[in-house]
Amino acid sequence: MNQTLRSEIFIPSHLKYFILDGEFKILDYSENLESFSEIPQEFGLGKDARLSFPELIGLEKILLEILQGKRNQFKFQGISRTLNNENLVYLDLIFEKMGSHAIALIEDITAMMNLNQTLFQQVNENGLVIAELTTNKDYINKIISSMGNVLFVTTRSGKIKTVNQAAKQLFQYREEELIGLSIAEIISDREELLAGDRQKLLAGEAIEEIEVKCRTKQGRNLIVGFSCSVIQTEKKIPAFIYIGRDITEQKRAEAEIEKALVKEKELNDLKSRFISMTSHEFRNPLSSILMSVELLENFGDRWPEEKKSKHLKRIKQSTDTMTRLLEDILTIGRAEAGKLEVKPIKLNLEEFCRELVEEFQLTAGEKYQIQLQCSTDLDSIPMDEKLLRHIFSNLLSNAIKYSPDGGIIDFTAMKIASTGTNGEREKVKFTVRDRGIGIPPQDRSRLFEHFHRAKNVQDIAGTGLGLSIVKKAVDLYEGIISFTSEIGVGTTFHVVLPIIGDR
Ligand code: ATP
Ligand code: MG
Repeated sequence: MNQTLRSEIFIPSHLKYFILDGEFKILDYSENLESFSEIPQEFGLGKDARLSFPELIGLEKILLEILQGKRNQFKFQGISRTLNNENLVYLDLIFEKMGSHAIALIEDITAMMNLNQTLFQQVNENGLVIAELTTNKDYINKIISSMGNVLFVTTRSGKIKTVNQAAKQLFQYREEELIGLSIAEIISDREELLAGDRQKLLAGEAIEEIEVKCRTKQGRNLIVGFSCSVIQTEKKIPAFIYIGRDITEQKRAEAEIEKALVKEKELNDLKSRFISMTSHEFRNPLSSILMSVELLENFGDRWPEEKKSKHLKRIKQSTDTMTRLLEDILTIGRAEAGKLEVKPIKLNLEEFCRELVEEFQLTAGEKYQIQLQCSTDLDSIPMDEKLLRHIFSNLLSNAIKYSPDGGIIDFTAMKIASTGTNGEREKVKFTVRDRGIGIPPQDRSRLFEHFHRAKNVQDIAGTGLGLSIVKKAVDLYEGIISFTSEIGVGTTFHVVLPIIGDR
């Protein structure tokens, strides 16, 4: 090696070099440099460097500029060489001026190039993974937001972290209002779903559609079927997923069906009670008629007139009972089918009451004294006579029937004015008071039900339909019926009916 040439500059040990004159003639070079040349056999002292390093061809002008000091350096980057026909190496080659010559410094950058390449490859691969993840995230986001079901993701303490479109729509919140809100603001019952259930979820249990009451921002109540599960986030923090379905309408429809079924069942029960009761009630008068007819057939010609007429009277009484029963059943049937209506026509109410009292006094006999008291302003009042008859013939008949010892029965009718929601409205207040057996407290609440009869009626005949009819007629009138009673002292029924229509 030419020590004089090389000692002019300090050359770091990892670099190789060769020194050229202005004609590219190799004046000096570091050990084994020929292995980095393209054609090693052309490399050597005194040889033209362009033969072994063809990259230098065309650099004549640049070399001149460097030698003249017009240019500091010139750099070739990433020259590739195949060493010993197998190893690919990369080199950087830098020309600089060194005294009156030029020095070419060569750095083996293979390791760096390989690292770069690996990094580049990794970056590319990561880019692909990120692109795929982004696509997947977009895809999942699209599914979540287009999901018809409500989605909430909450923290362990129940704070909402994520919501979807359906949740915003159903609960009428904006997304920014929901984020950070406690799920308890939305779910109004089932505490355990909010706290206790989260423990269950953490223990690995899933919660399948449970019905919970929820409320919207405006306070509207909803019923939502929620399924819940827990997932671990990448930071190993649990997140609670609530997926819900609005079942408010479904529940309402179910409740309605249930109500209709109960009503249907009630009607069916009523019908069968009606049938068994009425057939039983018809059996007695019918067998009584049959018996009297058979007796008259067999013995009539031999019997005295008096005995014959006794049996004929019994037949008549039995048919009356059956007719009345039939009428009651028909009336209730008509009322329940909505065919009974209030048709008020002007009526002298006092006269109507007097006639009713006379009628009842006649059949009741002397044991009873039916006293009528009316206010003086009842001579022309629009009332539905038919409904009045249903109401008061039943109340008077009960007053007589349930006073087996007789006594005074008071019947009063009085016009009153009362203030209702629609202002002043005229009404008539009626009372029917007896001094009879009274109604036991335990029967009072069921008195207006079909066929209900109090425990103390003993052998007093009746079907328990009369007061049902009374109640239906009063309800139709939008009136009020009430009673007070004391066992062994008597009973008073109060009826208030509004005056409907023109006077
Ligand atoms: P129906 O009137 O159909 O012939 P009923 O009199 O038994 O039969 P309701 O008029 O509906 O039936 O009365 C129901 C029950 O209420 C009666 O069976 C009786 O127990 C009780 N009740 C009604 N009015 C009186 C009253 N004034 N005093 C005592 N108990 C009464
Ligand atoms: Mg009765």
